[in-house]
Amino acid sequence: MKRNFLQLSILLLLLQFAIIKPIYADDHSVHHSSEHKHWGYTGDVSPAHWHELDPAFAIAKDGKSQSPIDITTKNLAVSSSLKKPVFHYSSDLFGIENNGHTIQIDPLHKNGYVSLNYITLDGADFFVQQAHLHSPSEHLIDGKMYEIELHIVHKNARGDVAVVGIMIEEGAENKTLADAFANLPKHNTEGKILDLPSLINFGELLANNATVYRYDGSLTTPPCSEGVLWNVFAKPITMSKSQIDAFKAIYFGNNRPCQPLNNRPISKTE
Ligand SMILES: [Zn+2]
Repeated sequence: MKRNFLQLSILLLLLQFAIIKPIYADDHSVHHSSEHKHWGYTGDVSPAHWHELDPAFAIAKDGKSQSPIDITTKNLAVSSSLKKPVFHYSSDLFGIENNGHTIQIDPLHKNGYVSLNYITLDGADFFVQQAHLHSPSEHLIDGKMYEIELHIVHKNARGDVAVVGIMIEEGAENKTLADAFANLPKHNTEGKILDLPSLINFGELLANNATVYRYDGSLTTPPCSEGVLWNVFAKPITMSKSQIDAFKAIYFGNNRPCQPLNNRPISKTE
């Protein structure tokens, strides 16, 4: 009886391996393919081909709420129902990395999805996950393209994503991002995060910027998932020519072209 029990236990153990192992392997391969599928901005892996590169990227072509868009502001009245996000930004420590698609700034202290900086959007808190840059800008405002667009990416408890977009044009030196732009990681440094020497307060980038355009869109990079709450500031901020050139020397043309609006509403919020 005891022996039979032992045999049964071993059999069950083997069965478990036989059943569970392939599921793990499969799950891993799916995860791997969508995480590391090679995509880019030119040639066979350019935005026009993203949907062909991986079934997980299909929405890049099939989606009806894709980003970026050209934000047409003519005839937009300030929304009576929607407000712009409430910003809870303060000084924090960040690292900087070249992730192979852009330069990314990461909060150094995060507990799960919770970080020090967050925004409140329609009553929900969205915490800063990272910030990164595109050049030239991805969104257009009334057809105008800017030198650089900064994206500050946030997440809430449900995993919903809210992005704050800020346009950058040439002008006075940007002091808030001076350390970051003096330490832009060159190519082939992927995986290395360099700690920035001084604190950054993203709140300083929002000064004198009253109007925010809100709309429902997507990630602008694969997998181009929809349900992203976009908050694009109406007015650009400035960076010096040398700051802009420093970024462009590493990344220029990492902008997805504008996508069809498909009658989505754009809300002007203040
Ligand atoms: Zn982006």
